[in-house]
Amino acid sequence: MDILVNSGEKKKSTGDGSVCDAAHRTVACARARLDVLVVGGGAAGLAAALSAAAEGARVTVLEKEDRPGKKLLKTGNGRCNLMNVGPPAYFNGEPLALSVLGPNGPDRLRAFLSGCGLRVMSAPEEDGRVYPASGQAASVLDALRFACARRSVRVFTGRAVTGIQRTGDAFRVRAGDEVFTARRVIAACGSPAGVRDREGAYHLLTALGHRMIPLIPALCPLECDMRGLGALKGLRVPAVLTLKADGIPVTQAGGEALLSESGVSGIAAMQLSCDAAARSAARRTLSMDFSPLMDLAPRTHFHRDGSGAPPPDAGAVKALLDARLAILPRGDLFTGLLPRVLAEVIDRDRPEPRALARRLTAFEMTVTGVRASAAQVMRGGIDTAQFDPLTLESLPVPGLYCAGEMLDVDGDCGGFNLMFAFLSGIAAGRAAARGRAESFAEELRVESFAEELRVES
Ligand SMILES: Cc1cc2nc3c(=O)[nH]c(=O)nc-3n(C[C@H](O)[C@H](O)[C@H](O)COP(=O)(O)OP(=O)(O)OC[C@H]3O[C@@H](n4cnc5c(N)ncnc54)[C@H](O)[C@@H]3O)c2cc1C
Repeated sequence: MDILVNSGEKKKSTGDGSVCDAAHRTVACARARLDVLVVGGGAAGLAAALSAAAEGARVTVLEKEDRPGKKLLKTGNGRCNLMNVGPPAYFNGEPLALSVLGPNGPDRLRAFLSGCGLRVMSAPEEDGRVYPASGQAASVLDALRFACARRSVRVFTGRAVTGIQRTGDAFRVRAGDEVFTARRVIAACGSPAGVRDREGAYHLLTALGHRMIPLIPALCPLECDMRGLGALKGLRVPAVLTLKADGIPVTQAGGEALLSESGVSGIAAMQLSCDAAARSAARRTLSMDFSPLMDLAPRTHFHRDGSGAPPPDAGAVKALLDARLAILPRGDLFTGLLPRVLAEVIDRDRPEPRALARRLTAFEMTVTGVRASAAQVMRGGIDTAQFDPLTLESLPVPGLYCAGEMLDVDGDCGGFNLMFAFLSGIAAGRAAARGRAESFAEELRVESFAEELRVES
């Protein structure tokens, strides 16, 4: 049997506080095998490593970049929106995500991060978003890295894993010319969203018989035909956006919309992007309702299915315009109501109030695509149906686990994706270290119940 031994030569800093050897070789000896090998040092991989180490396992993380957690540093515009305490909002993979979150996911994640030394803000921001108290993504990564060092987790950087092979009761994991042997492997390689690598590392699991759900970019700006709308570039307004495919409403989201020379961005537009990308064969339009800008509808963010969306209330806007016309000259109708550039575009041919009200509640733009290079997550990935929803252990390949965005789980904007990455990593790490999937599932349920009682009391 193969095990990993350090050659003792060419020790170098990994940049994460640990030291690794530049060269390894495999020799026959069962005793020195790694307990748990984590592939990928992002949010899910580091959480998995830490929770496995907390169970007493010897853990090694293989990260292909020169530093772990690079994507974490970009999250939340550098603030890292860690989690969301609102109702869970997941799309693909929702049953598995809800199982991983359990009844008190945010509380468990808060406790885990606090245990790593991270101070998490006590009061959530708008829409239930929770950030580190420092407001710095870098402090999240530092807390995880230093906790790894404290728990003797070895993080080897510059190790791009190219193959995972099952051999008897262990796995051989190849990274370049090195081979690591471990009893349990956790794959946490993320998705191609927000990184240069367009392919991802899904082949590591499909080669072992796992199914792959095709990728669709999600949470990215919408590209629109902006001909004749150049004046709107730079406009930032609260609005309700409805995506239509062949004239039929698909999804609706409200929030701040940012207009640029290439289309519309901002949280609401990003929330529509995955549905827009998935309907590339249809005639896609974006209908903007500016009622929130005129204080005729709430400004809060929301996201829901288009089928349940109420039609825009053009009547309220018409009534407002009529009331203004009773006291203002026509030329001043929009002064003090709309940004000037928007008023100029809406009022170009000076239509009657009824037509103006329609334009202000259903301002239509043609969607030409989505800016996939700016996607924050990918819908699609490794099919969740082939994993135990509590332990994240592979059903066809026992001893193999998968966590984070590599799985076909995508959540809404607002911290849901990192929350799933961390919590799925924690669940996989603990299960892999304990290696008793069935009894662990039972313990998890009991533990969740106990935590629930603590939270309530
Ligand atoms: C710009 C941006 C902003 C975002 N902001 C937020 C936010 O505020 N809140 C939120 O909830 N979500 C946010 N997200 C989404 C969130 O970052 C991801 O969902 C989350 O990072 C997924 O964690 P992960 O560990 O599964 O994957 P990753 O963080 O992508 O980590 C995977 C790791 O595996 C490594 N790896 C890949 N292949 C291999 C291989 N073959 N061998 C070894 N290592 C490998 C990668 O280098 C990487 O370090 C944002 C995403 C982007 C791009």
